[in-house]
Amino acid sequence: MEAVTEDCCVKVAVHIRPLIGDERLQGCKDCVTVVPGKPQVQISTHSFTFDHVYGSNGSPPSAMFEECVAPLVDGLFQGYNATVLAYGQTGSGKTYTMGTSFKDGCQTGLIPQVMSTLFSKIETLKHQTQFQLHVSFIEILKEEVRDLLDPASVNKSETANGHVGKVTIPGKPAIQIRETSNGVITLAGSTEVNVTTLREMAGYLEQGSLSRATGSTNMNNQSSRSHAIFTITLEQMRKLNPNFPDDSGVNEKTTEEYLCAKLHLVDLAGSERAKRTGSDGMRFKEGVHINKGLLALGNVISALGDEKKRKEGVHVPYRDSKLTRLLQDSLGGNSRTVMIACISPADINAEETLNTLKYANRAR
Ligand code: ADP
Ligand code: MG
Repeated sequence: MEAVTEDCCVKVAVHIRPLIGDERLQGCKDCVTVVPGKPQVQISTHSFTFDHVYGSNGSPPSAMFEECVAPLVDGLFQGYNATVLAYGQTGSGKTYTMGTSFKDGCQTGLIPQVMSTLFSKIETLKHQTQFQLHVSFIEILKEEVRDLLDPASVNKSETANGHVGKVTIPGKPAIQIRETSNGVITLAGSTEVNVTTLREMAGYLEQGSLSRATGSTNMNNQSSRSHAIFTITLEQMRKLNPNFPDDSGVNEKTTEEYLCAKLHLVDLAGSERAKRTGSDGMRFKEGVHINKGLLALGNVISALGDEKKRKEGVHVPYRDSKLTRLLQDSLGGNSRTVMIACISPADINAEETLNTLKYANRAR
C-alpha cells in the first residue's frame, strides 16, 4: 500500500513510431532524436525528459507493457483503479499502441497484453479467490457518451446521405455519468458485460472497435474525433485463510475480503488543432468539443502531478468535461495513471509533435 501512495501518481512515456509508408514516399526526414540511454527526446532546439521513451531506441516491444502497464494490472488485484491514456495527433500511433482496433498488430498492443496477463494471473489465484470480470466499451464524441457494446445497435443502416451509420433507438435514454455517495463513478445506461474467458473479452474489444468504425460518417476521420474507453472491472472475493474451518458462519465472514477495481484503457481523440480537423462548421464544433476533453484532461493531470498543489488541496477540475468526469475515480487519489504520448518522427509533423511533447511534459 505504501508503494502506491509514495509513487508519483502520473507516469508519462513517449512512444515514437517509425516513419510509415506514406511519409517515406513523401521523402520525409526523421526529426526526432532520443538521447542514448536516457528517456530524453529532442526536436529542433527543444529537449524533454520523461519517465520512459519507446521506439527508435532499440527497446524490446514488450518493454512498454512491462514497465508502464503491468504494475497497473498488479494494482488491480490489490484494489487500485488505474488509467492508461494514449495521447497524440491523428496518425501518431495511439490505436496501434493501445491495440484498440483489431486491424493491426493486435498481439502487440497494450490491451491484448493486459487481457492475457489478467487471465494468467487469475488462473494462478483462482484456488483462493473468486473473480468476476466485466467490460464496457464506450466512446465520447461531442461531449456525448456512446455505447460501443450496445447489442441493439449492432445492425447497420444507411443514413439519408448514404453513409453507413448506426440505428439509434428512439427514446433510449442517454448514457449518464453518475457518482455514488462513496465517490465511485458509474455509467448509467451503458452495457457492462460479464466475461469469463480471454476469448470472450477479446471478442468484446473487437465488437466495440468495429462498432466505432461503422458508426462513422467518414471512416478515416471518425476515430480521430472521439475518445474510446475500454474498461475492465475486476471484482474479487478473497478467502484470507482458506484452511479456516467453515462450520462457523461468523468466523467465515471475517476471513473474506471483497475488492473491486477498474482499469480504463483510453484511446484519446486526435490532439491536432480543430482547424485541421475539417473546413465545415460542423467538424469544427466537434473539434472544439474534443479539445474540451483534452484540455480538461491536461488541467486535471497537471493539478495531480503537482505535489505541492495536491498537498494544499488545490481544486482538481474533473467536472470540466465528460472525459475527466468519467475518469475521476481512476485519476489521482490511490489510483495509478500512465500517459503514453504517441508521436510521429516525420518532419512534416514537427509542429504537432512539439505540441504533444509540451502537453505530455506538462502532465509530468
Ligand atoms: P492514431 O490512432 O494515433 O490515429 P494509428 O495507430 O492508426 O494512429 O497509426 C497510424 C499508422 O501508423 C497505422 O498505419 C499504423 O499501423 C502505423 N503505426 C503506428 N504505430 C506504429 C509502430 N509503432 N510501428 C509500426 N507502425 C505503426
Ligand atoms: Mg486511432
